[in-house]
Amino acid sequence: METSAVGASTGMSNVMARISGIQSQLAMLSRPTVAATVVSASPAAPSAAAGTASFAGRSSSGAQFAAALQSAVSAAAPTGGVAGPGATGSAATAPVTTGPVAPGPVAPAPAATAPGATTAADAWTRPVDGRVTSKFGMRTHPVTGVYKLHTGTDFSAPMGSSIGAASSGVVKSAGWQGGYGNTVVIDHGDGITTMYAHASELLVKPGQRVEPGDTVAKAGSTGLSTGPHLHFEVREDNKPVDPQPWLRKHGVTV
Ligand SMILES: [Zn+2]
Repeated sequence: METSAVGASTGMSNVMARISGIQSQLAMLSRPTVAATVVSASPAAPSAAAGTASFAGRSSSGAQFAAALQSAVSAAAPTGGVAGPGATGSAATAPVTTGPVAPGPVAPAPAATAPGATTAADAWTRPVDGRVTSKFGMRTHPVTGVYKLHTGTDFSAPMGSSIGAASSGVVKSAGWQGGYGNTVVIDHGDGITTMYAHASELLVKPGQRVEPGDTVAKAGSTGLSTGPHLHFEVREDNKPVDPQPWLRKHGVTV
């Protein structure tokens, strides 16, 4: 049966409506087995659940159990994973929707796994093993000969070597971007994006969730490039910043 998926898309008012409905049903029930099973699906509120379990053991009335369930659900609500508008109370929904057939504890979905989540990532890693061959800053472009800002850091990377996501996030785009060639852009939330350019092969699709180090592309020399390498950018609100101090600030030696 659906558990967290249903919970994540159900509002609190809906939850309370369900609770009300279940209370009505429970008022007609006094079977301890039903009560015990429902309670087992409320791991987020151990103290309240324990109290309810003893109710069940004494074959208390359905009305008493319903009141206890109400408090158990109320206690569980604040601990639910909050993934955004409309997701509040997912933990509270789970025990109600699963009811007596719940197979076991239902863990609230962590916000980090919600589709499109844009919470700033905190774990960062080097996108490739290679050394830095060209730094962020003003330079004469090796192909065009134009003196202008080099908006990223170039890393040496043999043709076909793996390029990893520098941190967790959601793929914003994966495709051809003019002089950048085949390029992946990852959205890490809070206005932070990273870009991986000149790839020979793209291995992710827009909307895909990635974790630090996940391979997103293979290194290449597409676009304006003199040889296989990774052009890596970090942007804050789409403005390129120097990736090296950024990575150092986030615990990466580079
Ligand atoms: Zn570059």
